[in-house]
Amino acid sequence: MAASRIVYLMYHELELEGRKLVQSEPGYVRYILPLGVFRRQMEVMRDAGFRGLSVGEAIHDPHERSVCITFDDGCETDLIAAAPVLQDLGFRATFFLTAGFLDTPGYLRSAQVRDLDARGFEVGCHSMTHPYLTDLSDAELRREVVDAKHRIEQIVGHTIEHFSCPGGRYDSRTLEVARRAGFHTVANSEFHANSSTASPYRLGRVAILRDMTEEEFVDICGGQGLWKRRLQDQVRRGVRQFLGNRAYERIRSSLLRERQT
Ligand SMILES: [Zn+2]
Repeated sequence: MAASRIVYLMYHELELEGRKLVQSEPGYVRYILPLGVFRRQMEVMRDAGFRGLSVGEAIHDPHERSVCITFDDGCETDLIAAAPVLQDLGFRATFFLTAGFLDTPGYLRSAQVRDLDARGFEVGCHSMTHPYLTDLSDAELRREVVDAKHRIEQIVGHTIEHFSCPGGRYDSRTLEVARRAGFHTVANSEFHANSSTASPYRLGRVAILRDMTEEEFVDICGGQGLWKRRLQDQVRRGVRQFLGNRAYERIRSSLLRERQT
């Protein structure tokens, strides 16, 4: 029997009318969906017969036709915008929080994290301060992975099992630190579906972008055309490796700015 493969979606902050986003650079905004678009995507998923799962469910109790839904960064819109839509449709999801951002403007407050948790959503960890983990010293890496886990655990009062890498960056050292800290899974942002036999420390996710069409979205949920995105992404990663993280970000943000004008 072929191992079942599940696509993991990666969302971020949602845009609400009259509400400022936590960041305004083009490189950030391209990952931000208006709430109405997000709601429509979830309805399209339901109508296509998919069920929305958290990472824990996707790993331990995968369904025949399901999609894993994840959110990064821990913005307040996780609770006030995404959660009600997901609840309406009976979907679960995992919210990866940046521990050091909690209780600051635009991000979840501790009480809201407990609320998400109490509603049956899964709370995960997305580092302490959102750096690229591959750029850090051992001590910095421990703070971003181990201390961040403990901080979120103190808020919710139970163990946190799932981690997602800021900017999708990871290496073998990062994964080892996460594994030793007690995380059961690590998600990145590589474009592939995850089979039940693959390493839970290398979970690929597909970033849902603002300019995606509904057709593209449906294809992604069904795992179609991911190879094309993966290829584009590999080219991008190759360029990044050649230039280094900092130079790559400088060039990327100036290109994105140009595209906007
Ligand atoms: Zn992030």
